[in-house]
This record gives sequence, C-alpha cells and structure tokens, in this order.
Amino acid sequence: MAGQVGASTQASELARLLRESDSAVVLTGAGISVPSGIPDFRSPGTGIWENVDPFEVATIEAFHRDTRRFWEFYRPRFETLSEKRPNAAHEAVAELERRDLIEAVVTQNIDRLHHGAGSERVIEVHGSIATSSCTTCGSSWLLEQVEALFGDDGVAECTGCMGKVKPDVVLFGEMLPEAAMTEARELAMAADLMLCVGSSLEVYPVAGLPELTLSAGGRLAILTQGPTPYDGEADIRIHGDVVEELTALLSALG
Ligand code: ZN
Repeated sequence: MAGQVGASTQASELARLLRESDSAVVLTGAGISVPSGIPDFRSPGTGIWENVDPFEVATIEAFHRDTRRFWEFYRPRFETLSEKRPNAAHEAVAELERRDLIEAVVTQNIDRLHHGAGSERVIEVHGSIATSSCTTCGSSWLLEQVEALFGDDGVAECTGCMGKVKPDVVLFGEMLPEAAMTEARELAMAADLMLCVGSSLEVYPVAGLPELTLSAGGRLAILTQGPTPYDGEADIRIHGDVVEELTALLSALG
C-alpha cells in the first residue's frame, strides 16, 4: 500500500468491504484479549506466564504425568482468567454480528470473552475454560464448580468415578476439537471476507483457515500488530491497536 494511510481511511475501507460482503467471518487470536489484561502466551516473561514455560506445563503429557504440578500452574490461571472482562474490541465484534455483517467468530482464545461481549456464534477451536471434564467418564463441570473438586493433593477429581478432571482447553500435544474445526473450515470456505484480528496466523491448523477463504475466492483483511504469513495477500492490512481500529470501524459503519 502506497503512502501514509490513516486509521480512519483504513477503517472506512474495511467498513466498505464488510458492507459488500455476504458471508464475512471474524477470526481472532490472543491480540484481541491483550487489552483485557490477558498477556499473549507467546510473549514469555509476562504476567501469568512469568517463570513458567507453557510448553512444559500446559501439555497433555504433563497433565497425565504430573497432574498436581499441572493444576499448580492452571488453578491460579483459572482464577485470574475468570475475573477478566471483554474489552471494546470484543464488543465491536459482537456488534458486527448483531448488525448481521458477520456470520460468526472463530477464535483461538480460551477466555470466553467473546461470549461475555454478547457474540452468539463463537467457534472456540482451542476449547474454553468455561467447562472442565473427567478424563475417564466424561462428566463435565462449569468453571465456577471446578474449585470444589480439588482434594488436599491439589488435583481436581471426578465426584463420580474419581477420575482426573481436565479443563476443556486444547493442551499442547492434543488434537483440536473436530466439530469446531469442521465448522471453522466450512465457514472459512464459504466466507467472501475473513477479518483476522489479533492473530499472528502462525499456529496450525487455524493458520490454514485464511488460505481456505483465499482459495475459494474470498478476501482477507488483517488487523494485528506483528507480521503474518498472509500480509501480502490481504486486501487490507491494519497494524494499529485492536480497540482503536475496531471502534473506528464501527464509527465508519455509522
Ligand atoms: Zn469421572
């Protein structure tokens, strides 16, 4: 893109693409939740990930090998995350859905904040902290019920079969939920516009979704601060702050 393009110009351009579109989808990553005080886990040494390597603790192997240590890490994280609130960027995405400008939001985030902002069709491809399930019998508990499952050993245990209870988030080394990925792929293929917000688009298989939209003849708009592998193929590439830019988008839509 040549010359200086201001936030409002890009927001107007994005507003135009959204109005022209019939089947737009929003794809979000960690960047949309940073203004809510949730650090991107890919930025080591910040907040809840301080002194912890998530690739060592938040793996399915680690969960089974040393469940106590897993929960030692995850239990306070649960508490911290449950207190977080959606920000204006989540609210803008919910507003786009209310105005019938997007079909759904596909998110890599596990924080429930799209639901909190009022989005209705949310596809959580990395799962969510909203529930935890017994790894033996499949019984399920809401986030606020999990605390009561902990014994003195610091492990959350199923009240029925005494099996290990695990948060319904996708840990490193686990497969992504098949139904959610199928729905996400179908939305991506049917989309004439995919708006990617706050994702580096580097973590597969989610990173393959924009390719599905492009292959089917759809367009890409990308709003995120760092580089992405799709920057050269996007119709609009916005590097600004997610809250400022999505607020400007709503203004531009009028
Ligand atoms: Zn059980």
